[in-house]
Amino acid sequence: MSLSDTLWERAQQFLPGGVNSPVRAWRSVNGRPVFIERATGSKIYDVDGNEYIDYVCSWGPMIVGHAHPEVVEAVQKTAMKGTSFGAPTPLEVELAELVVTAFPSVEKVRMVNSGTEATMSAVRLARAYTKRDKIIKFDGCYHGHADSFLVKAGSGLATFGIPASPGVPSDLTKHTISLPYNDLQAVEKTFAEMGSEIACVIVEPVAGNMGVVLPERGFLEGLREITSKFGSLLIFDEVITGFRVSFGGAQAFYGICPDLTCLGKVIGGGLPVGAYGGKKEIMNLVSPEGGVYQAGTLSGNPLAMAAGVATVKILKRPGVYEELEQKALTLTEGIKQAAQDAGIKIQINRIASMFSVFFEPEEFVKDYASVLKTNAKMFINYFYGMFKRGIYLAPSPFEAGFVSLAHTEQDIQKTIKAAKEVFKEIKGD
Ligand SMILES: *Cc1c(COP(=O)(O)O)cnc(C)c1O
Repeated sequence: MSLSDTLWERAQQFLPGGVNSPVRAWRSVNGRPVFIERATGSKIYDVDGNEYIDYVCSWGPMIVGHAHPEVVEAVQKTAMKGTSFGAPTPLEVELAELVVTAFPSVEKVRMVNSGTEATMSAVRLARAYTKRDKIIKFDGCYHGHADSFLVKAGSGLATFGIPASPGVPSDLTKHTISLPYNDLQAVEKTFAEMGSEIACVIVEPVAGNMGVVLPERGFLEGLREITSKFGSLLIFDEVITGFRVSFGGAQAFYGICPDLTCLGKVIGGGLPVGAYGGKKEIMNLVSPEGGVYQAGTLSGNPLAMAAGVATVKILKRPGVYEELEQKALTLTEGIKQAAQDAGIKIQINRIASMFSVFFEPEEFVKDYASVLKTNAKMFINYFYGMFKRGIYLAPSPFEAGFVSLAHTEQDIQKTIKAAKEVFKEIKGD
C-alpha cells in the first residue's frame, strides 16, 4: 500500500469524505486523491515521492509558482513578529492600497478570510445599499458556499431559485434568480418584470467554475447598462480572475467598471484571504463607518497580507502578464494540435493564464448547458493518462487549469508530449 492509500483510509475516518473541500476527493474522476507533501515552482510532490507538473495551482492562487522565495521570505519574516494581534497592522494598509491602485473601480476595500466571505458580504452590502432583496446570478457560476448562492435555477425565466443543498431554506433562495450565462435577453426579461426589486447582479466576468467560459461580446456591457438603468448594483466576482486575467482583473481586460468587486485566491498568495471593495459611497455603509455589520477575528491577518503583498508586487513587474500569456498560449496551441492530429474533437477556452479543455462538445461551449453536453468520460481518461505521465490536472471536467510564472518551456513541452500520447491512447475508447 502506498502512503497515499494509508492516509486516505485515515482521512476518511476523521474527515467527512476524507477531505476539507469536496473537489479534492476526486469523486468526479472516480478515484482517490494523492496526498501532497510539498511543492516548489511548477512542481508538486506527493507523499510517495512522485513529482507532477501542477496545473491546479491550488485552484488559482499560486500564480507566481509554489514556495516562491520572495513570498516564503515575507511570510517567514512576518511570522517571527507574531501571527495575529486583532489590531490594525501596516501590511493590511499596504495590500489595500495595492488593490485600490490595481482596480480603479475599487476605492475602498475590506479584507476577509475567504472568497465565500467576500461574496456573501458584498451581497449583504448591495441589499443594504439598494434596500432590495432579490439577486441575480448565473447557472454554473460559483460564488462560494453562502446560502443565497446555493441555488438551482427554477424552471423558466424569472422563477425563483430552489435550494441546491439540504440545509438552505427556500425562504432565502426565493430571493435568488439564476439565469443562463451569456443570456442577456433572459436578464432583460427579468428586469422588465421585477427590476425595481433587484439589489444586484453578481457574475464571474470570466466563468471559471464550470471550466473556463468566456463572456460573449456585449454580455458584460449589457449587464452594466441594465443594472445602472434599474438602480441595481453590478458585482464582479473576481475571486479567480482578479490579478489573473490581467493586473486589474477581468474588469480592466474588458473595460467595464462594476460597483463592487470580490477578490480572493491570488491576493492571498496561497494563504486564506478574500476581499470586497468598490465605490466609497457604497463601502462607507460597512461597519463601523456604516450600519452593515461584517467582522472577522483573523481578517487582514499579517501572514496572509504578507503573502498577498509579496505576490502582487511580483505581478506588478513589467512583462509578467505577457510571459503568462505566452506560456498559456504555447500550451493550449500544443494541446489543440495534438488533439487535431489524433482526430479528437476538443474546444479549448482560454483567457490569459486560465484554460479548460472540453471534449467532444455538441455545441459551442458558452454556458452551463453546453458544458454539460461535453464528454466527461473522455475527460476522465485524459485526466488519468496525464496523471500517469506526471501531469497534475484538476480532478474534474468542470474546473479551470492555471499556468504560473514558474512553468518552464520544458514543463510545457513535456505536457504537450504527454497530451499527444494520451490522445492517441483514448481515441480508441
Ligand atoms: C473560489 C471561488 C470563490 C470562493 O472562494 P473560497 O475562498 O473558496 O471561499 C468564490 N467565487 C469564485 C469565482 C471562486 O472561484
